[in-house]
Amino acid sequence: MKALVYEGPRQLHMRELPMPELVPEAVLLRVAFSGICGSELSGYLGHNSLRKPPLVMGHEFSGEIARLGDAALEHNPSLRTGQRVTANPLIYCGRCRACLGGRQNLCAQRQLLGAHRPGSYAEFVAVPARMVYPLPDNLSLEHAALTEPLACTLRAAQLGRYNPADHVLVVGLGPIGLLSLQVLQAYGVRHILASDLDPDRRAMAQSLGVEALDPHATDVLRAVREQTDGLGADVVIDAVGVASTRRQSVDAVASGGRVVLIGLHEEESAIPVNVLIRREIQLLGSFSYTPNNVAEALAWLTAGRITIDPWLVKAPLHEGPAWFERLISGPGAVAKVLLS
Ligand SMILES: [Zn+2]
Ligand SMILES: [Zn+2]
Repeated sequence: MKALVYEGPRQLHMRELPMPELVPEAVLLRVAFSGICGSELSGYLGHNSLRKPPLVMGHEFSGEIARLGDAALEHNPSLRTGQRVTANPLIYCGRCRACLGGRQNLCAQRQLLGAHRPGSYAEFVAVPARMVYPLPDNLSLEHAALTEPLACTLRAAQLGRYNPADHVLVVGLGPIGLLSLQVLQAYGVRHILASDLDPDRRAMAQSLGVEALDPHATDVLRAVREQTDGLGADVVIDAVGVASTRRQSVDAVASGGRVVLIGLHEEESAIPVNVLIRREIQLLGSFSYTPNNVAEALAWLTAGRITIDPWLVKAPLHEGPAWFERLISGPGAVAKVLLS
């Protein structure tokens, strides 16, 4: 099969690879669409310890079942050959304390497709049958490939406990930031501010009806305080994850408020912990998604709650290397690239 192989920093090439091995409890999917994730951009640059070359990346995908492993139906009786599906790519054990407590995202044995195992930047990908989700008839394969990033966003919503009366600041308008705006709106939140350095990303937020600030031109903290009688935001979502955005998130949140950290760019950042204590600020790490978040994301996409079509780009797999370069340097009004 053809696959896009990450072979070292900024080295991504189309190669001919053997078909994935199909163990009895897995299914073989013919990949339809596979999104490019921010974590894969950092992997591509060689900044991500999880992604070691040579590797077929790709974990946000949809496709059709090409072949069922001999025991696949014992693990997921709803599957059949030819079925349109997506998958939860964060494979968990299902038996440990985290898994049994409904926090499969924290399973110590978790393995991500496209990082620990070969992913979906290929014609075929092998997935454990229990991780596969059949698609409703009215959900397109394009939209189904957004299940994974939306599930991440819904996990952040669950932990952030959005309330319609909240004032919320969203820092960073990559795919997760843009999806967060729509999730907040669906939760009934009306007071939303966003910030991003990129004018195209700010324009996308504006077209969703959200005021988006340029942090180089506007004092974001002052804007937040002006809109909140000086109190600060009830919730701040950091969808970037560098020292400056983490610090800004703490500065912008109200006393007693919640900071949801979802961006993973920097390993360590300085945070004024005494300020957290004296102002009872809750810092919440939000990592990937549970199976409930995945099912919820599928339901939201099926119900048409998410607008992304104007900023969705579809490109053949062999154009992947060019799109990785473009996404790093500033791609314009593009929220998500789906490789097919
Ligand atoms: Zn992702
Ligand atoms: Zn587990």
